[in-house]
This record gives sequence, C-alpha cells and structure tokens, in this order.
Amino acid sequence: PALLAVRDVVRAYPLPRRHPLAPAGTVRAVAGVSLDLARGESLGIVGESGCGKSTLSRLVTALEPPDAGRVHIAGHDPNTLPRMALRRLRRRVQMVFQDPMGSLDPRWTVARIVAEPLAGLAPDVPRADRRARVAEALAAVGLGAEALDLYPHQVSGGQRQRIAIARALVTDPDLVVADEPVSALDVSVQAQVLNLFLDLRARRGLALLFVSHDLDVVRHVTERVLVMVHGHAVETGPTEAVLSRP
Ligand code: ADP
Ligand code: ADP
Repeated sequence: PALLAVRDVVRAYPLPRRHPLAPAGTVRAVAGVSLDLARGESLGIVGESGCGKSTLSRLVTALEPPDAGRVHIAGHDPNTLPRMALRRLRRRVQMVFQDPMGSLDPRWTVARIVAEPLAGLAPDVPRADRRARVAEALAAVGLGAEALDLYPHQVSGGQRQRIAIARALVTDPDLVVADEPVSALDVSVQAQVLNLFLDLRARRGLALLFVSHDLDVVRHVTERVLVMVHGHAVETGPTEAVLSRP
C-alpha cells in the first residue's frame, strides 16, 4: 500500500459566535482533501494563512480524527486501530513544528527530549539501546554528544530545530510531517535546516510532507505540491510546474 493515502477528509471547527443568541456556525478548515504519498517522496502543502494546512497535517498524523473521510498510513487507519497497534504506527510518522521553543520542554535536557518518543512509543526498545538511538539521531542532524546535557534555552534557534528533528528521527520513521519548520528561523539558518531535510531524505529514504506558506522554501525541498485554498485542494502536481503557473 501507499505510505500515506488520504481520501476526502473533512474537519470542521465551531466559529466564535458574533452574538450569544446567534446560531453556532462552523468553518470547514479542511473541506474534502485527498492525497497520496509513496515511500521516499516529498510533497509540499502550500496556501495562504488559514487555508487549512496545519489542520490537514494534524489529520494525516492522527493527532486529530477527521469528521469524514479516511486516512491510511501503510494500509492502516490510525483512527480505528487498537491502542498498541496505534503506538507502533505512530513510530512511523513523526512531526516537526514551527516553533521549537514551544514544542521542546524547557525543563528537560536534550537527551531526554530526543528520547521521549522512544519512551512513549517504543517501550520495547531496551534502555541500554535508547542512549545509542538518541546519539545516532543527534549525529544525523549534525549534533555531537556535547549537546546531550544542554537545555533548549542554551542553544540557538537553528540548533533547537535540529533537536526537534532529531526527536522526530529517533523512532526511525518512514514519514516526517513538518509544519512550517523553518518559518521561525533567520533566513541564514533556514537554508541549513532545509539542506538537512534534503540530506535526510537522500540518506534515509525518508518521505516528507512539508507545510509552508513560503513558496521558495517549498521549491527547495519538495518534488510535488498540493495547493490549498480555504480548505480545498485546488491544484496538485510537480512543484516547479505548479508554482510557475501564473
Ligand atoms: P493554516 O495552517 O493554513 O494557516 P489552519 O489549519 O491553522 O490553517 O486553520 C484553518 C482554519 O481552521 C482557520 O479558519 C482556523 O481559524 C480554523 N482552526 C484551525 N484550528 C482550529 C481549532 N483548533 N479551533 C477552531 N478553529 C480552528
Ligand atoms: P465549501 O466547503 O463547499 O467550499 P465553505 O463553507 O468552505 O463551502 O465555503 C463557503 C463560502 O465561503 C465559499 O464561497 C468560500 O469561497 C467562502 N470561504 C470559506 N472559507 C473562506 C476563507 N478562509 N477565506 C475566504 N473565503 C472563504
């Protein structure tokens, strides 16, 4: 089966009421989107702020269930799997978010942060092996053992995002979903982190779903794009062909 198959997913949220007696409205943040992703492939999700990119990425990583439609990861529907099987499936799909400071616990050392998905999702990995897996994930993002005992506030923004990527890699996933992973970084650091994603795809055969409002960034790291306009997928195809259309 495809690594990721998404069919007609819908996700609606209640709108804030304009008046306490007004009827409650909803906005369809994702209004029926389908997509496929094969192993090792990269797909960009682009569109203006508020078009539903983040909501779609939460649906495909099973952080939220869709109201309608289906998500299949390697042939399994995460929303119907029993808990243990869901854990095993979650190891294969990891996420990287925009703001590493917001998603890294400031009270935890880098060693503990990077090990966290192993502790939660792979309790069968022996403790002794965890250290080696953490060191390997850090090495994959260009960080050495000296990073292990640091806290997130002790490193630069670019290094924090490397740590977040190491945490995503530690379960050896097939797919990383990155939601605006370089938007909070200085432009000079953005290229380094984007090249890291390219490198990880080349070396590990990692599939990448890359959410960004920045078309130049998406050009740099993806082969195909899906363009969203208020909840709908309006266009999909090879990145350069789609983004160079008037
Ligand atoms: P994007 O990532 O493209 O900026 P989002 O997926 O964040 O878009 O948001 C799409 C729409 O859904 C917006 O109208 C947003 O306000 C709404 N929305 C997103 N998440 C929530 C939520 N948790 N509760 C209510 N509304 C939400
Ligand atoms: P549908 O899911 O059938 O597209 P929606 O409820 O999403 O219906 O949209 C109803 C109308 O509101 C559409 O005409 C659409 O153009 C408009 N609309 C919805 N969301 C937005 C948005 N985020 N920005 C601008 N227009 C929007």
